[in-house]
This record gives sequence, structure tokens and C-alpha cells, in this order.
Amino acid sequence: MSILIKNVLHSFRNEKVDIFVNNGKIEKIEKNLNLQADKVIDGTDKVLYPALSNMHTHAAMVLFKGYADDLKLMEWLQTKIWPIESKLTEEDVYWGTKFACLEMIKTGTTLFNDMYWHFDGCYKAVEEMGMRAILNAVMIDMFDEERQKFNEKRTLEIFDRYFNKNPLIKVGLGPHAVYTVSAKGLKFAAELREEKDTFIHIHLSETLTEVEDCVKKCGKRPPEYLDELGVLTDKTLLAHCIWLNPSEIELLAKRNSIAVHTPVSNMKLAVGGIMPKRELREHNVRICLGTDGAASNNNLDMTEEMKISAILQKWRNNDAEMPNAYDVVHRATEGFRVLGLKVGKLEEGDTADFILMKMHEIITPMHNPVSNFVYAASGTLTDTVICNGRVLMENGYVEGEEEIKENFFKTLNRLFNLT
Ligand SMILES: [Zn+2]
Repeated sequence: MSILIKNVLHSFRNEKVDIFVNNGKIEKIEKNLNLQADKVIDGTDKVLYPALSNMHTHAAMVLFKGYADDLKLMEWLQTKIWPIESKLTEEDVYWGTKFACLEMIKTGTTLFNDMYWHFDGCYKAVEEMGMRAILNAVMIDMFDEERQKFNEKRTLEIFDRYFNKNPLIKVGLGPHAVYTVSAKGLKFAAELREEKDTFIHIHLSETLTEVEDCVKKCGKRPPEYLDELGVLTDKTLLAHCIWLNPSEIELLAKRNSIAVHTPVSNMKLAVGGIMPKRELREHNVRICLGTDGAASNNNLDMTEEMKISAILQKWRNNDAEMPNAYDVVHRATEGFRVLGLKVGKLEEGDTADFILMKMHEIITPMHNPVSNFVYAASGTLTDTVICNGRVLMENGYVEGEEEIKENFFKTLNRLFNLT
């Protein structure tokens, strides 16, 4: 399918251009293109930005948005989140994930890295929405051998059913964290990842308690422990990475693992620290950006995440120059490059994942559209979304959104007995 976008403001060039998309790629960017296309979109009063990648989330947790706020992390997990999660059915997760995809599309995200229960429901939802995702089979065994064996069996079934089935959806492994998964479980994940050449997505060093408990239990801090089990490679996505010491930063660099910055969730859950992003960058560690689940954020708006990550790191570094708006957009699109896709600069030859935002007072004047994207915009200005050369949203409308909303509310009613 080909798409011609006329007269749109290119954010990196800050000039009006036409964009021709063909076979999933941005084929041409020029003024006044005279080409035939299957679809023509008027870009007047719109700004062209790259689509964003949310590289740490638990999509279906949109069901719990605002349900349990202002609690300490462990209290939040143990008294609120885990009990309600135990009631979830596959259908709940399916509608929850669909609704999360709707929120992500409407705020400019086309790729996300997930970890959640009821894999079949997640997969079906993402496939139907036409988004890109890394869907990771979640593993929590709480050091119980029976649960660990069950996880192995379920994970292998998931791989049999879905691995390499859809080019937009990568199937990976989601051992939750060192405090919820046994060494045996982590080793299993590392070995299966090696065999399938896919990703591991895990939470790492989010709190000091996690680090101290790991030292007490295994005699090592979490990164070293994971490395010994073969978990750290260039296909490991590490969410949070707050409590890292200099030798651990060197270790992540050596293994070329990927750190995922989740500033809003970390601040909201008061994890007591900030990711040492500047030091990680100094060692060339790849860094992505993510929202975490909507129960701890409480939205999936990557535009908001960009701004908060930027101002948090400037404050931490005591340096107004670091990071700059271009660095931040680079981080927010790094997920695509982790998958080997060229997205983020809006150049000819790039994979066609991009968005059009409405001109609005919030992003006016346009002295610098990239700066406006990071510091001024809201994801809700997103008007049109293209993923892999396909239109996922046009004029703020996603096909089938009424049905998704209706069923999402039905799911909420059932879960929380609201009616
Ligand atoms: Zn998380």
C-alpha cells in the first residue's frame, strides 16, 4: 500500500514537505511530490514526528489505573495488585491489552515491550490492533519447584504456538525479577533465549531492598548474579536499573545489554534513586524509555515520559545541557533500533513508523518542533499514526474503537463488581 502525505511540517527539518510511503518504507521526502498513491493524507496544520517505542510496560494493567495509588511498592504489589491480578481471565487481559493499545496509538506509540499474564489474550489483542510488540512470556515461581516446572511447560507451549508467527510481534521471555524467579527459572529463560535468538525482559535493581536481599540470598548483587546465569546479553532489556554501581555499569556495557529508563513509575513508587543515565551513556550502554504499567504511571503517554525523563536527568546531572531534546527523542525511539529497524530520524529509506500531530497552541510557536515534541507537547495531540506503512489512526479515530471501549467497561464492571 502507498500513502502520500501532502504539505506536512517535517519536525527535524522544520519545513513543509510531502512524504511518499510505499511497501512499509518512507520512499521519498520532497516538496510538491507529484506521485500517485493508494491513499492521500492532507498534512496541512500537522507536524510529522517519529512514532515512539515504549520499552517497558504491562499493557493490560490499564485495568488498574487509579485503583491503588499512593502506596509503598511492596504494599502496592502484595495487598492490591497481585490479589486483583489473580482474578484476571484471558478475556479480561485481551480487552485490557486492546484498550492499552488504543491509548498507545492515540498518544503516538507503535512499538511496545510487554510482560504480562494470559499470553494468548495479549497476543490476539496486539495482532488485531496492528501494532509492533515484543511480548514476553511472564515467569514468576517464588522459588517453588512446581511453579517453576509449570512455567517451563507453559513458556514452551507459547513458543510453539506463536514464535515467528507475525513479523510485527516478537515473542520473548519475561522472568519477572531476581526476587520472584528462582535460579533454575532464570537459567531456563537464558537457555531458551539462546536457542530461539530472542529477547529477555526483566526488572533489575529497582529498589535497594531488591539489591540487599539478593546479596543476602546469593552472595552477589543482581547484575552479577544474572550474568552468572547467562541472562545478560545484547538481547536483554533491563527495566529500571536504578541501583547500579560503576562495575555493574561496566558489566552492562560489556554485555551490550539494554537499560530501560522508567522515570515516572520510579518517582511515583519512590524507589529512592534515579537511573545513572549519564554514566550508562558514557559507557555506551543502550538506553530505551518506557512508561511501566498504567497502575504505576498512570498513563502510557510516551510524550509525557520524554519530558519527565529529560528534566529528571538534567536535575540529577545539575546540567541543563544534558540530555538535549534530540537525545531524548533518540531514547524514545531506540526500541525500533533494538529490533533492527531504522526509525527515529524521518529520512528517506526509514521504516514507515511515524505520527502526525495537530498544530495546537501547546506546540506554538514552532521555533523548534523537536523541542516542542519533548518539552511542550502532549501525546493526545496525535492525529494520525502510521505503523509499518499502514494507517492505524486517522483524524484521531482508530477503527473499531467503540467496541474496544464498550468491552473494556464490561471487563471493569465484572472485575470490580461495579454494577
Ligand atoms: Zn514493570
